[in-house]
Amino acid sequence: METTHYQLPEFDFVPPPELTGAAKRRYPLAIVGAGLAGLTLAADLASRGVACVVLDEDNTVGVRGASSRGIAYMQKTLEIPARIGIYDRIAAKGTRWSAGKVLSGNDVLYEYDFQPASVSLQPPFINIQQFYVEWYRVDRIRELGLTDLRWKSRVTGARNLDDHVELDIETPAGQYTLEADWVVDAEGVNSMLRQLLQLREHSERGLDRWCITDVKFTHKRVNERWTWSRRRSTRTVASGST
Ligand SMILES: Cc1cc2nc3c(=O)[nH]c(=O)nc-3n(C[C@H](O)[C@H](O)[C@H](O)COP(=O)(O)OP(=O)(O)OC[C@H]3O[C@@H](n4cnc5c(N)ncnc54)[C@H](O)[C@@H]3O)c2cc1C
Repeated sequence: METTHYQLPEFDFVPPPELTGAAKRRYPLAIVGAGLAGLTLAADLASRGVACVVLDEDNTVGVRGASSRGIAYMQKTLEIPARIGIYDRIAAKGTRWSAGKVLSGNDVLYEYDFQPASVSLQPPFINIQQFYVEWYRVDRIRELGLTDLRWKSRVTGARNLDDHVELDIETPAGQYTLEADWVVDAEGVNSMLRQLLQLREHSERGLDRWCITDVKFTHKRVNERWTWSRRRSTRTVASGST
């Protein structure tokens, strides 16, 4: 079987003004984390004319060393890329689906199709690797040209002061402190800021085991989600090639 490795983009680290002798300034908004949440917020703000600084410890999209986490994007979340101007790219790359079957062996226990009840311009689901969904956001942020996107910038400390927040940032060119009126924590599930600032969390740890595999089919198959139900476990297969 032929295997294909994804080539993720690598974004350049650019030494920030704080490390190149520019006068110190306070930014209206800093977002910590350029994952799905941070990039979505930055793109949405930029499309409304609001500038911000985005800080990420990595310099690529998705999870380094793994191909993808998210794969299925549902209708409501597809309305967001439409708003920020990247829905057409996602629709062109991804696989649309709306119907599925629940099986026990070869017996179909249940069938569904969300399309007839749909009231959205977007389809009920599109399957696409999460790193594309993030990558198109980075491209859009760059097109809009308002956001200061800083890669290889790891936030290591934070102080919540009276009218602003100070962030300590480590980069390949050295360490600096950035001041912002507002900070959004988009660090994902293991947030250093939430621990440091003792903010309430709503995270839950699941015990599910996942195996996510991208398969290239040599012939066209119907785009459907198939779930096998057994007494003690459930297996899901989302069919369709991307
Ligand atoms: C197995 C699996 C399957 C999933 N399937 C789906 C799916 O089908 N559909 C779906 O919608 N969702 C799915 N999800 C959920 C989805 O992946 C997450 O909801 C999403 O990635 C969360 O985005 P986030 O931006 O909050 O965090 P993340 O994507 O984790 O991004 C956090 C970012 O913050 C950066 N960062 C962290 N700490 C620092 C720091 N101190 N300084 C600077 N940068 C920092 C990281 O480099 C990263 O880029 C799945 C998740 C898993 C694990």
